[in-house]
Amino acid sequence: MRIWYNPAVEKTALTPMMEQYFRVKKENPDALLFFRLGDFYEMFYEDAKVGSQVLEITLTSRQKVPMCGVPYHSVQSYLSKLLRKGFKVAICEQVEDPKSAKGVVKREIIKVLTPGTAVEVDLEAAKESVSIAAVLMTPEGWGLALIDLSTGEMRAAEGPADDLKTAADELFRAGPREIVVPEGEEDAAAPLFRGDLSQVLKSPVEVWMFDPARARHALLDHFQVVTLAGFGLEDKPLAVSAAGALLSYIKKVRKDSLAVIGRLSSLQSGGRLLLDASTIRNLELIRNLRDGRVENSLLGVIDFTVTPMGGRALRARLLQPLLDRPAIVARLDAVEGLLDDSIVRQELRDALKGILDLERLTGKISLGAAHPRDLVSLKHSLQPLPILRRILEPLAPALLMDIKNRWDEASDVVELIGRAILDEPAFLLTEGGIIKDGFDRDLDELRAVSRSGKSFIALLEKRERERTGIGSLKVRYNRVFGYYIEVTKPNLPQVPADYIRKQTMLSSERFLTPELKEYEEKILNAEERIGQIEEKLFADVRNRVAVETRRLQAIAAAVAEIDVLAGLAELAARRNYRRPDIDEGEAIRIRDGRHPVIETATGEPFIPNDVDLDRTADQILIITGPNMGGKSTFLRQTALIVILAQMGSFVPAGEASIGLVDRVFTRIGAMDFLSLGQSTFMVEMLETANILNNATPRSLILLDEIGRGTSTFDGLSIAWAVAEFLHENERVRAKTLFATHYHELTELPLTLPRIKNRHVAVQERGGEVVFLRKIVDGPSDQSYGIHVAQLAGLPRDVIGRAREILFNLEKQELDDAGRPRLAYSKGKKPDRDQMWLFGDDRRDSALSEIKDLLESCEIASLTPLEALNLLARLIEKARQ
Ligand code: ATP
Repeated sequence: MRIWYNPAVEKTALTPMMEQYFRVKKENPDALLFFRLGDFYEMFYEDAKVGSQVLEITLTSRQKVPMCGVPYHSVQSYLSKLLRKGFKVAICEQVEDPKSAKGVVKREIIKVLTPGTAVEVDLEAAKESVSIAAVLMTPEGWGLALIDLSTGEMRAAEGPADDLKTAADELFRAGPREIVVPEGEEDAAAPLFRGDLSQVLKSPVEVWMFDPARARHALLDHFQVVTLAGFGLEDKPLAVSAAGALLSYIKKVRKDSLAVIGRLSSLQSGGRLLLDASTIRNLELIRNLRDGRVENSLLGVIDFTVTPMGGRALRARLLQPLLDRPAIVARLDAVEGLLDDSIVRQELRDALKGILDLERLTGKISLGAAHPRDLVSLKHSLQPLPILRRILEPLAPALLMDIKNRWDEASDVVELIGRAILDEPAFLLTEGGIIKDGFDRDLDELRAVSRSGKSFIALLEKRERERTGIGSLKVRYNRVFGYYIEVTKPNLPQVPADYIRKQTMLSSERFLTPELKEYEEKILNAEERIGQIEEKLFADVRNRVAVETRRLQAIAAAVAEIDVLAGLAELAARRNYRRPDIDEGEAIRIRDGRHPVIETATGEPFIPNDVDLDRTADQILIITGPNMGGKSTFLRQTALIVILAQMGSFVPAGEASIGLVDRVFTRIGAMDFLSLGQSTFMVEMLETANILNNATPRSLILLDEIGRGTSTFDGLSIAWAVAEFLHENERVRAKTLFATHYHELTELPLTLPRIKNRHVAVQERGGEVVFLRKIVDGPSDQSYGIHVAQLAGLPRDVIGRAREILFNLEKQELDDAGRPRLAYSKGKKPDRDQMWLFGDDRRDSALSEIKDLLESCEIASLTPLEALNLLARLIEKARQ
């Protein structure tokens, strides 16, 4: 936590205003304090130093106090920059009129903006959600809560202390901007914050906020319920603690009603295809591995949504594909309906384009943070709804019928804003120019006074020109003098005696008349009152709209759903995706499958491939082939097609039939987490352990090399044992694609019937290797690693020597009988080579059995027959 409040400085600061500053600062030591002074927000002392550096603004000093400031009308961009960098900002406003204040103007913190709660500041690319989490770690387990304030959706979960992975995965999927933790217990939660999460701002709060009883009460009170059972949280005290603490924290920083938070649910709702953090990362579902951007990730290429909430909903769907066949089929039906009718789809997408970020606008309004222009944006965003309904009219798929049956256009809200707020209202609340004529009688009357006053002044100017004969006489206005008459120097002799001289300028003089002052007062009074009334009327209208938060959120969700479905239909149309068959069986059969990202990213034509996986014949496919041949691509495209299918999308394949998959596991690539004390190989083994411990018969496993991070023999042994385990262990027996350069593994099918060999075909033409990218039956005969090394430009001498060494090594691979050494199965005679492969266990147990037999035998009492039998058993044991 950063602390900028320094009590030592306070003692030196004396002016009443600085006293006030310190009083406020002390309440918010971990936030930068934006202290309102007239038209600026000022920062002082350490805040000023940090602020000026981050915002690249000038640091000045007054009476040795360092300070810097930003103009209040352009504060948004500064706030956005600070929040994006993980700072909190406390906004301290003047809460009384400086004109009527006695002494120092009263100031108060009206809210603290934090990265995870500042809905009013545009922090992210529109399609990313801004969420905040709370995490609690106890010896019994963890509790976790998440809120996205723009949608008002709150979710909570808990789990045992030995399953931190679930919590870490949930956090990874949500990608919060801020994480609330109990003060002093930050270290306990640290194991959850690996990788990207280690950079996220942690906000420690008083421990009592997490108190279970208090937290429960806070939730019951907020949601106005008597039990949390309806949310699936009644028997989850840790989840409740985290959720209650999160609610209290948001209340504390936002200082306003949290009506926007309308939904609470248990995170572990089941019914989803589970994707853990490393799978999401490895498969580049939402970011590419190269530079971490959305471009060239799966999301990047499938996203044809046109609204921000549609984009967010698509992302959420991609991270949580379904497990429920009817629900998937319903989505596919809707996509198909929209795919078949391209005109409707086009019209729909055009209409959707007019809809801004309904979710965030609603959030802002509900949190009292909306400006007049936000209300106008809301109106514009609701206006296309009747058109949308008309376009949807002929579409019959159940999901769309469902949306139509729940249809709400909030026409009352559109009407209210249309009647109340000007189409292009002023940006600021205090200076009028917000409310339309005809909305409020008092306002209309005051405006009439102000207007007539102004037209009187125009008349007065004309009349005075005629009376004095000074053609250039002007009535002007400025903030200091109000209205005055200006006469240029040459015309001064014609000034009448009743003009009162007020100010002499270089080339003119300024005068007043009692009549002018009288009207001025009328106008200014009216204008001040107009400003006040407009501000109040605006707040009323905003509150009336805020009451409709739930309805607006439901509309936003419906729009998001339509956008996602239309976007997926557009994707299918543009990229020639096909509808997958979803069934409850256990097979995955894909004809002419393609990699959705690579097919769009490279200029070359993509070579489609088939895959057949099931649990009876083709459970594990060992994929061999040259480097750069396309093994990883084949593995990944299979998983991506399954994920797309189960999220309810068409897929890049000629045909696909998918038996529902409950989890996709990946062991891909090598990533170093050296900073966390984990080597590449350790990470590889952790991922492998996770797979073997958690895979089920419904899972799909991708193993892109195992054991490459250690010595060949160790690695090969582990890889072999893993394949055997997946084949033999009934609890797992999951469908597996295993890409490897360990050629020895292609001998696995000799003894394990559900393991099959596939390889990537190549052709050698005149010494040149041509990658055909086609996956075909059988093992590959070579790795072509040296060929790829040659292509990469390794020196000729090195390549030549490598060939020589390879030749020698390959000769060694055969045993005395000319058989490959690794082809022995468990039942065959072990030899020295097999011993290292299977470990010493079997030998040890055979030896100890022989020893037992010999020790238990009493030679004196043995009959010749018994002796012969014993000898036979010993020989049999030895042969095993
Ligand atoms: P290595 O063993 O070195 O990891 P690999 O066999 O896993 O290599 P990939 O990384 O899958 O090879 O593929 C290498 C490149 O070949 C890809 O980046 C892609 O550009 C291209 N490629 C792969 N598969 C296909 C295909 N089916 N059609 C067209 N191009 C492909």
